Amino acid sequence: MFGVSVLKPRLDVGASDICCPVRGCGYRVPLQPALFRTTAEYRCPLHRIYVAAGTFAYEREADNLLWTGEDDLVLLNGVRRHGRDLGLARENSERAVTWNVFRWLEVSGALPGLLEHVLGRGVATTHVIYWGYSPEREGIYLPLVRARNAFEEEDAGATEPAVLIDTDDTLVLVEPQTGLATETSQTPVGWERYERGGKGWSAGVFAGSIRDAAGAKGPFELLKLWLLGSYMAELAGKDFALLHVSPAWSGAPLLARLQPQFVCDPARRVRSLTWEDMYEHLAAERPGARDIQAMLTYFREKSAGYGADGRLRRAFAVPDHV
Ligand SMILES: [Zn+2]
Repeated sequence: MFGVSVLKPRLDVGASDICCPVRGCGYRVPLQPALFRTTAEYRCPLHRIYVAAGTFAYEREADNLLWTGEDDLVLLNGVRRHGRDLGLARENSERAVTWNVFRWLEVSGALPGLLEHVLGRGVATTHVIYWGYSPEREGIYLPLVRARNAFEEEDAGATEPAVLIDTDDTLVLVEPQTGLATETSQTPVGWERYERGGKGWSAGVFAGSIRDAAGAKGPFELLKLWLLGSYMAELAGKDFALLHVSPAWSGAPLLARLQPQFVCDPARRVRSLTWEDMYEHLAAERPGARDIQAMLTYFREKSAGYGADGRLRRAFAVPDHV
């Protein structure tokens, strides 16, 4: 994994070619066409990455992942069989960040403490579902299947919580955003199904209509997570929390704009957390946890690729100490 201390601080790009971004490497490849390609001509053989202007992709997906033990790979392969291509080899993959951080939170036992920090109350056991895939069922998590059916979702474009945390008394859906890649939020086809689905469930959880809340630009995914998540929690007789995780520079305005659209009460809440706050919490609360240093280093080292000015950017504004 190549982080900010290993990557060149400035992009070296010519008229028709580009230099490998790893420090000290002089290997040059042609500039990529508009659609990113992972073919031999764009590959630096020394560092086994496919180079593009501003970003790159690893030849081996595992090079972009912190956790690739046997259990990890079984789970990831299960997700892949039942979902879309995860694209985890891309340096700007939001899913790779999600996996690297949340899988550690789960396995290290740090997740209940973090949820307590965010929700303001104790959380007992947690069951974590990535991208809707349940390893026990070897298929889509059953409560999610029920919610998708209730809102008449088709497989393509079905709501897919990146991380679903089912605790004893609360269902938490996490929407992790990194701003690493420009993601296009697709306008769902047919808002009617979301308005009439679950016997008109949306009327009770949105201040206006879900269509009005979305406006022209979304963010559709957050609205669908609020709708389906609150519905799933109701079926399970649990509280519900929607947790938006975002970099310090980007997230707050989005949630501030959306929050008035959500009908909240003590049992149904929306919370935001920055990656930077998560880092501080983990550094302070989990100093002795297994692999904590690898986790904190990842936060510090994670690059956000090269900006329009050709300079390398860090993904998270976290302090260098610890
Ligand atoms: Zn190289």
